[in-house]
Amino acid sequence: MQKITYAKGDGIGPEIMDATLAVLKAAGARIDFEEIQVGEKVYLAGNSSGIGEEAWESIRRNKVFLKAPITTPQGGGYKSLNVTMRKSLGLFGNVRPCQSFHPFVSTKHPEMDVVIIRENEEDLYAGIEHQQTDEVVQCLKLITRPGSEKIIRYAFEYARLYGRKKVACFTKDNIMKHTDGLFHKVFKEIAAEYPEIESDNWIVDIGAARIADTPEIFDVVVMPNLYGDIISDITAQISGSVGLVGTSNIGQTCSMFEAIHGSAPDIAGKNIANPSGLLRASVLMLNQIGQQDIAEKIENAWLKTLEDGVHTVDIYKDGVSSSKVGTKEFGEAVIERLGSIPKMFKPAKYDSTVSIKIPEYKRPAPQNKELKGVDLFVDWKGSNPDQLAAKLQKLNDETTLTMITNRGVKVWPNGFEETFCTDHWRCRFEVKNGGKFSKLFITSLLNHAIVADIDVIKTENLYDFNGNRGYSLGQGQ
Ligand code: NAD
Repeated sequence: MQKITYAKGDGIGPEIMDATLAVLKAAGARIDFEEIQVGEKVYLAGNSSGIGEEAWESIRRNKVFLKAPITTPQGGGYKSLNVTMRKSLGLFGNVRPCQSFHPFVSTKHPEMDVVIIRENEEDLYAGIEHQQTDEVVQCLKLITRPGSEKIIRYAFEYARLYGRKKVACFTKDNIMKHTDGLFHKVFKEIAAEYPEIESDNWIVDIGAARIADTPEIFDVVVMPNLYGDIISDITAQISGSVGLVGTSNIGQTCSMFEAIHGSAPDIAGKNIANPSGLLRASVLMLNQIGQQDIAEKIENAWLKTLEDGVHTVDIYKDGVSSSKVGTKEFGEAVIERLGSIPKMFKPAKYDSTVSIKIPEYKRPAPQNKELKGVDLFVDWKGSNPDQLAAKLQKLNDETTLTMITNRGVKVWPNGFEETFCTDHWRCRFEVKNGGKFSKLFITSLLNHAIVADIDVIKTENLYDFNGNRGYSLGQGQ
């Protein structure tokens, strides 16, 4: 028996959770259920993250959490429960299978069957933001080797477990050569360990366009957080079945499973919500906890229900559906079909001999890190970079000002008058003739900048790693 934690959530949450639990129990899931409260009531009782101490303890003890959607109250100070869960529990991956259920659910893409695997903790979502000048605000994009290794390995393991043939990676490393470049590099390294699975990399813009246009050419797709956030919604939407999609948030020790839709307050309490998203999230959960036999039984009964035309109102269509049922009755229809195999849809078949295990990250030997220079970021309200350069060139004798950029574009030396400049200047100092750059040069530069009334708002050290440049150059020209 596996103990799991579950929460009925808000809005339609209790109705769809009751239907889901009824199916799980009838299918013989070897599960003990422990209920917790999260969501609106907890927020309104004064807990700004929507989850209390006891609930945390239950999730951390049981390590598996089946969650119905919740309502985040409008207004100040309430933190997103999902973001809190992901970060606190280290839920590094979000898995969203999006397939077509044509002809029962309308879609322009009857052949699509794509799984989006999204990195969940890093990228711009680290939430490290600073206003640096009147005109410029910055958000740090963090891509890490351990984070990339974990999610990419998970994608290949997932493909292996579910008998999928291809894993694609979406990045924008033609522009972000270091951050997205690392994600792509790790993808190539890990792909080489899975020669039986095809792999390819797409620039995210054309990749996204092809997903929207011809999703059937994709199988498993892995990507960093922001792209994954946007593209997983597009993919679910074009499959025509947002209400039928379940998702898992996977961590090294804990995982959370839920429907992708919200708490739908407009239809709450009416017994008309479709419980399929949460039910299919529970199928992902059963696979994760090693109960593939039950997962298969439920998914096949659900597919059979769908193809028998037993539909909730959101997908009901005259001429296609045979009966319009409520939330509870839909669950009962699935229960009646436990043990049946679908005839039109491909029956689910899950392999119980393999399971997804991501090895602990092993930090490689430290690289040879050599300081090559420093970028001083300066708040300056002037407009002619030659004037700023003249001030900066007087700062010290050990270093040389080699470049000034504005929003990444080189504006000194030899900038163009046409380049629009803000009040945020990146000023690069290096040493001439390949001499050694000392950290003391940085403090000297900063001291002299203070005396000269130059407003340095941050510095960024420039390093080579094993002889490879670890920083970007100025764009343009
Ligand atoms: P929503 O997904 O709740 O509803 C959008 C539309 O889809 C509504 O018309 C709704 O009736 C319909 N719908 C959603 N699920 C359905 C189902 N299972 N069966 C039939 N119809 C369904 O999105 P929203 O209205 O933007 O958000 C409502 C609340 O849900 C908000 O408080 C939001 O913060 C919350 N929310 C929670 C989660 C979560 O807990 N994971 C996710 C998204 C939104």
